[in-house]
Amino acid sequence: MDCIFCRIVEKSQPADIVYEDDALIAFKDIRPKSDIHVLLLPKAHIPTVNDLDEHHVTLMGRLFLTAKKLAAQWSLVEPGYRLRVNVGRGGGQIIDHLHMHLLSGQRKR
Ligand code: 5GP
Ligand code: ZN
Repeated sequence: MDCIFCRIVEKSQPADIVYEDDALIAFKDIRPKSDIHVLLLPKAHIPTVNDLDEHHVTLMGRLFLTAKKLAAQWSLVEPGYRLRVNVGRGGGQIIDHLHMHLLSGQRKR
């Protein structure tokens, strides 16, 4: 298996890491679509939302709570922010390692 996001988790590929704990990591998107564009993901390789089951309930809760905390820390509660999870090719998912986009500010093309 060759997964870019697993390589970032393992630190064998560089990334601008902005948050990390035992289960989650967040880093800046290499091609930002907004002023702020961070990817937040579980360190464990879960390909897509379609692969989630009951075992992942706590982890997914932590994903949302961490997104909320980072947004508050970066003063994004006002004006607001977007959390986006793409699922499958038709859903816009390119990297098959479940991740949440945290976006805020001016949209870029
Ligand atoms: P998806 O379309 O799968 O939801 O989002 C994948 C995101 O990962 C895209 O926004 C893309 O710009 C970003 N991305 C792809 N490869 C890399 C990389 O090597 N490093 C970083 N930091 N972001 C990446
Ligand atoms: Zn992975």
